Amino acid sequence: MAFGLFKSDAEKAEDEWRKAYEKGINQKRWDEAAKHFKKAYEHYRKAGDPKAEEALLLFYLSVSFSGNLDALKKAGELAKKFPPNTTFRIPFEIRAEDIAVEAPLLVREIPVRRALSDVDSLISSGDEGKMEAFASRLESISKDLLMNSSRKPLLGEFFGLKEPFEKRGYRYLAYSKLLRAKIQALYDPQQSIELYSEAMGYFKVGNMAQPAEEVTEEMNRVGKVAKCWFCGRTIQGEEIHYVRMPAEVTPYLLSKFRDEKPETVGDGYVIACRACYSAIYITSDSIARRYYQMAMKKLEQVRQELLAEIQRLNARINRLEGRISSLRWEG
Ligand SMILES: [Zn+2]
Repeated sequence: MAFGLFKSDAEKAEDEWRKAYEKGINQKRWDEAAKHFKKAYEHYRKAGDPKAEEALLLFYLSVSFSGNLDALKKAGELAKKFPPNTTFRIPFEIRAEDIAVEAPLLVREIPVRRALSDVDSLISSGDEGKMEAFASRLESISKDLLMNSSRKPLLGEFFGLKEPFEKRGYRYLAYSKLLRAKIQALYDPQQSIELYSEAMGYFKVGNMAQPAEEVTEEMNRVGKVAKCWFCGRTIQGEEIHYVRMPAEVTPYLLSKFRDEKPETVGDGYVIACRACYSAIYITSDSIARRYYQMAMKKLEQVRQELLAEIQRLNARINRLEGRISSLRWEG
């Protein structure tokens, strides 16, 4: 029996390897696992044991499970150097080939997935360049996920991504189509319909009923045509190129124009193309601002007058106080 002091590198390596499982992997304590795999790697290397490479791969994997994507990338690169069927235990069995394929996918997918949670603010920013760039990233990752759809996600479990590749792929594809549809709708609503319907289809295969429904509603709005009450132009794309403006619509106006096709007026609103709407809005806004400035000027004038009045009253009070105290003195 060998005491610690006289242990060979090979024995030390085996000890560390065992600890990496007992204290780390088996208890899902990835920092402990990483610490011992690193030591195991160093001892194996000194002993000239090829198992060093396995320990190194497991070290990088353990580090990555705490969310370190650089380590995950390294693990993926190292995995390619092993024969495809080499198995590792983390604690379930995984083959080198599975790591080599899934790790780089996750390295790309995780940041995209994070950014996707904020897609609404990207859309409302209206920044077409950024929307287009993100659509391309989504499309590229979805393509790679769909290409591997026959595989079972294994490493994903450690990163909260257990869903099948296929489902994830269709979801990203749906969002990329939706972003492109929104951009296209600004230039040509009719042409954007096709992109909307593709997005809707992919949301459905990706099992996302709610976004599919929302996209359908949006697509219907984009497809709608109406006539501007002000300029009489026929416009496509509700809420993009025309809006409903609250208005006082008398029974006479309503009965006379309600049935016009395309729609131009309704109960309590008129249709306004974006140009007419914005012209009215901008003009009324500047008129309101001018009235506000006028009112503020008038207010300032009144303030100055009041201040002068207060000063006069103060002077009178002082005089009266002086007289009262002189009366007391005399008394
Ligand atoms: Zn108009």
